[in-house]
Amino acid sequence: MGEDLRQLSVAADLLRSARSIVVFTGAGVSAESGIPTYRSGSDGLWSAQNMERFANPSGYARNLPESYEWYRARALTALDVQPNAAHRAIAALTTARRGVTLVTQNIDSLHQRAGSADVIELHGNLRECRCEACGWRVPWASAPGRPSCPECTGTLRPDVVMFDEMLPAEALEAAFAAARTADVMMVVGTSLQVAPASELPRLALRAGGRVIVVNPDEQDGLTGPGVVRLPGKAGQVLPPLVASATLAPSAEGPGAGSPAS
Ligand code: NAD
Ligand code: ZN
Repeated sequence: MGEDLRQLSVAADLLRSARSIVVFTGAGVSAESGIPTYRSGSDGLWSAQNMERFANPSGYARNLPESYEWYRARALTALDVQPNAAHRAIAALTTARRGVTLVTQNIDSLHQRAGSADVIELHGNLRECRCEACGWRVPWASAPGRPSCPECTGTLRPDVVMFDEMLPAEALEAAFAAARTADVMMVVGTSLQVAPASELPRLALRAGGRVIVVNPDEQDGLTGPGVVRLPGKAGQVLPPLVASATLAPSAEGPGAGSPAS
């Protein structure tokens, strides 16, 4: 058996015998849907200049209305693209078994559109824009042409977590609690450069969980005991992995016993 296949089989066994699983995703899971990752460098979407201008609250305020337009364009793009095989495999895992918690840093709602319910969104989402002043909300597809609230003339902004902003407390607590009790955390398509989300896999390892990493490169630095790396694209690695992990285990297999739970 080739090394990659052997690792896939080790990972499938881990998933099959785990009682609690956390799937933790980043921009890489949506790359094959055509949404550029943060660090892909393949276009100017996430250039340093755009980060400065749009990705933090003061830049956003200084660059209105262009910053509002930028988020609106991203929101409409997210609606326009389709979930890929990786989102679908994760949805199949979340519906096939109990005890699976899905945590994402993504804001594109592609997990939900692929059929995953109860997604813990750490960085908000691009479904709606909201008024900073009065909380009025509207789906981006019907958002006003200018970033001015029709109720109170306050400033409209995306419902995402920008740099320097707090993550939603409830989502963060739920994610940390799930990480602490996970038998297996599967980390898909994230470079782990953005704290505090980046702490989740280490937390799971420290608590005695195993970590499966699905990523074509190793910039996340997750290696060593307890880590199984599957170095490929999420859309290619996850379908066979999930199919194998959700098959009924053979009587003497490492997953024996899990159907009763
Ligand atoms: P990142 O861009 O820093 O890292 C992406 C990772 O995905 C890299 O490690 C890369 O090697 C890997 N990758 C690329 N293609 C892949 C594929 N086909 N399969 C598997 N892995 C692949 O993204 P991040 O770690 O999520 O960065 C965090 C921040 O980026 C978050 O704040 C998030 O909100 C924001 N972000 C979100 C989206 C989105 O919603 N789709 C897009 C860009 C950025
Ligand atoms: Zn308002």
